[in-house]
Amino acid sequence: MKKHIAIAGAGPAGAATALLLARQGHRVTLIEQNIAFERVFRGEGLMPAGVAALHQMGLSEILASIPSRQLDAWDFYVGGQRRMRVMEPKNAGLATHIVDQGALLGAMIEQAQPLPNFEFYPGWQVTGLLTDRSERINGIRATAQGHQTQNFFADVVIACDGRYSRLRKLAKLPMAHASAQFDVLWFKLPAPASLARETPFVACLQPDRQFAFYPSWDGRLQIGWIVEKKSHPLGGLAQLNTLNQSDWIEAFAPALPPELAAHFRQHQNELEGPIYLNVQVGCCPQWSLPGLLLIGDAAHPMAPNRAQGINMALRDAIVVANHFAAAAAAPQAAGQAVEETMPMETLLQAIQAERQPEIEAVQKMQLAEWRKVEFISRPGLPYLGFKAIASLFGRFQFAQNIWLHEQQGLREGVVPVQLKP
Ligand SMILES: Cc1cc2nc3c(=O)[nH]c(=O)nc-3n(C[C@H](O)[C@H](O)[C@H](O)COP(=O)(O)OP(=O)(O)OC[C@H]3O[C@@H](n4cnc5c(N)ncnc54)[C@H](O)[C@@H]3O)c2cc1C
Repeated sequence: MKKHIAIAGAGPAGAATALLLARQGHRVTLIEQNIAFERVFRGEGLMPAGVAALHQMGLSEILASIPSRQLDAWDFYVGGQRRMRVMEPKNAGLATHIVDQGALLGAMIEQAQPLPNFEFYPGWQVTGLLTDRSERINGIRATAQGHQTQNFFADVVIACDGRYSRLRKLAKLPMAHASAQFDVLWFKLPAPASLARETPFVACLQPDRQFAFYPSWDGRLQIGWIVEKKSHPLGGLAQLNTLNQSDWIEAFAPALPPELAAHFRQHQNELEGPIYLNVQVGCCPQWSLPGLLLIGDAAHPMAPNRAQGINMALRDAIVVANHFAAAAAAPQAAGQAVEETMPMETLLQAIQAERQPEIEAVQKMQLAEWRKVEFISRPGLPYLGFKAIASLFGRFQFAQNIWLHEQQGLREGVVPVQLKP
């Protein structure tokens, strides 16, 4: 039996879920507060698990058509020199990609738009939850930018409204926050000519400082500077905000080989940023209430290391679609409603039960990865010891294989997620 599903938020979780459920024939109403998808910098790393999710959704052509770059290698610079390069495996077209998230979302909505059972409301902000007499959630209230307010009644509401989820707060579903790790400051700089030919993700380490950069889909360098939540040698966030472009360039330069440092200095007046990302990590103990399900960042905001947010959101969408498809296909006795064979509440809880173990495992791996980086960048023995080890062994294939092997869960996910036909 087909349902009416209202989805709040057209990020990766909402856009993918809307497309998959609309393809199954459910009536889908997707509500997004922004009119356009071009936003301030957003996540753009798609790990192999995210690429595989798009392939399963039949969106390989979209991935090929939007602005994107396939990663060639992972480079590790310690003390201004490249100590290790790990080539990105390219098995079955599943290499890590850097994508224009806005273009990806726009293309997903375009795929759904011809379906007569799909409605999209851009520029509408969800402001309230509707409930029936038994307190079951049965829709959302949204306000258009022109101040028009409308109730959207639905059988199920799926909250995909991101890390600061308004629906999560309105539903009073608590978030269990993981311990604070780090924040990120993002910058853009013109890319050097050498990085027009290849796409490495470059991690740079110096005592007490870590940052990473890569040539992005727009041809510019995207630089992420890691700021520990506790104090930082360059100062707290307030002080970091007072640094000007040349201060930042001089903070980056010692960690770079001379030719890259020269490029950074030459283009210091073109440095854009920083955009501050307040990293929050956590997972709701309960993702659903009668009539409401949270997924994506709304249920489990991810840390940004090894680009997990979009990937987990797309995998959530696949699991939601699988459960709705299975419920619709469940054999029914004559005259029996779907609710009697598979109550909606059970279905929503089953989605959380399937997704939560992977989310928790991935968040643990991200934390372990961060602790390692935080340790080896401590001035003195940890940093010097790591620099010596990286210089000695980084060039050998076995060391590169060990690193790649350790990354497996973050690259491919920890449980199988497969969209059922
Ligand atoms: C700076 C930055 C860099 C990141 N880098 C990466 C990366 O490289 N790789 C990666 O995988 N992840 C990255 N992430 C995380 C990633 O972007 C998110 O984890 C991912 O987008 C989560 O998808 P989502 O659909 O759950 O939420 P979001 O992408 O946050 O989407 C939520 C949507 O809901 C809309 N919305 C919110 N409130 C309302 C409302 N009241 N009414 C209507 N609409 C609403 C928002 O406008 C938005 O479109 C990054 C995040 C940031 C901020």
